[in-house]
Amino acid sequence: MKKRFAVIVAGGKGLRMGNDIPKQFLELHGKPILMRSLECFHNFDSAMECIVVLPESQIDYWKQLCTKHNCTIPHKIVSGGKERFHSVFNGIRTICEEGLVAVHDGVRPLISHEMLRDGFATAEQFGSAVPYIDSVDSLRIIDETGTKPINRATVKRIQTPQIFDVKQLQEIMSVDFRPEFTDEATVWELSGKTLHFYKGDTKNIKITTPDDLKIADVLL
Ligand code: C5P
Repeated sequence: MKKRFAVIVAGGKGLRMGNDIPKQFLELHGKPILMRSLECFHNFDSAMECIVVLPESQIDYWKQLCTKHNCTIPHKIVSGGKERFHSVFNGIRTICEEGLVAVHDGVRPLISHEMLRDGFATAEQFGSAVPYIDSVDSLRIIDETGTKPINRATVKRIQTPQIFDVKQLQEIMSVDFRPEFTDEATVWELSGKTLHFYKGDTKNIKITTPDDLKIADVLL
């Protein structure tokens, strides 16, 4: 089995939550969201090396939260960058060994053991593993030229953790940022590499708005 790493990104400002506290630090059942995300990886494989990416200005606050909540999970703390892409790169470039790295949104604290098992198994075999879920809503393009329905069976919603071979991800991310780089799968694909997928989970929500926090509270 290859060595496993997790880069958990929480380098964003989380402004859509409309709160003074960045969303990754809001409490879910008495514990910060980001801490719950970190726990998911550690509880799945305690040998996994975890790297948490935070805005420089929030690192001290995170350390205080770890003390307050008795979080003893070993993890490296790295400063985030301007875009998510830069935050991920700052995290993965600190890895000096070969292996697999799971890049995960810090605001998705409900990753299941099954997802991590399937994701790492897929990446172990193919070098990449990207989770997707189906769309239950009808889908439609609406733009300046008009409106057009699209076949929802062919459109998938992409989640994290996205898992890749460490060395290859470090290499392909050593490029200039492009606005379409909203996830690592896009960078991987645009470099000419093949993407492999695994089944995501509708419960693996990305906490973005106050309503998401209420949903996560019920799902936990
Ligand atoms: O809100 P958004 O989809 O951009 O964020 C997804 C994840 O990427 C969040 O966990 C957020 O904290 C992280 N991020 C980051 N660095 C940035 C922007 C977002 O780590 N500069």
